[in-house]
Amino acid sequence: MMPALSPLPNPIDIWQQTLNWQPAAAQQQQYQRLYEAIVAGNQQLNLTRIIDPQDFWEKHLWDSLRGVQPWLSDRRTALRLIDVGTGGGFPGLPVAIARPDWTITLLDSTRKKIVFLDTLVAELGLATVKTWVDRAEQAGHLPQHREVYDIAAIRAVATASVCAEYVLPLLKLGGSAVLYRGQWSDRETEALQVALDLLGGRIDHIDAFVTPLTANTRHCIYIQKVTCTPMEYPRPVGIPAQKPL
Ligand code: SAM
Repeated sequence: MMPALSPLPNPIDIWQQTLNWQPAAAQQQQYQRLYEAIVAGNQQLNLTRIIDPQDFWEKHLWDSLRGVQPWLSDRRTALRLIDVGTGGGFPGLPVAIARPDWTITLLDSTRKKIVFLDTLVAELGLATVKTWVDRAEQAGHLPQHREVYDIAAIRAVATASVCAEYVLPLLKLGGSAVLYRGQWSDRETEALQVALDLLGGRIDHIDAFVTPLTANTRHCIYIQKVTCTPMEYPRPVGIPAQKPL
């Protein structure tokens, strides 16, 4: 039997100061349940190396929400978000708990991870979360996914220009991609720009920040879709990573 896990931190002042948002008691309970389920799921599946409660709070919960901070407290619209290469559900699940009015799609090519997430989503009572097993290169050509999302989030999946090829086809015109990155360089901006010119995107802004507990530098790259993505993108499975734009 697994030993009982410590409770996650819930630093209300940090939530509020950094994200202008804080979880209600029921949401904090959902985060605790998510944490316990991920740690338990890790025994069968390689979901994450981050299982210490402080690390989990900062690197999975806070980081997931930091990427959608521009929309987090805006109550006017319920958005459609897709999380590409969601793995154990990050950033999509923390966002779904914070904004149960949004429709969230969790996409991953590994079936057993999605089977795990299906059980977890039911247990957490997240009625507006859907899952989809597929490669991003294939999902991007399906009518139920192409050009339908307001936000496409992607973390720890590939280089930035490969991520752009995965997510831009999924966005509506005017929609936003969020690339969650660690370090970031001007050279990466230049390479990403080349890809975006082909995919119909424009860098809206590059947000550099430090994490609140361990002061690690991270970046979120916000991209706006300004023209339709040509039908040749995404290219067939494996090509975006083998031959980045
Ligand atoms: N986004 C999660 C996170 O930040 O914790 C998981 C990151 S994990 C390192 C990368 C995930 O992307 C894996 O679960 C993998 O199956 C998925 N993935 C990689 N390439 C993909 C593709 N082309 N289409 C869909 N999923 C993909």
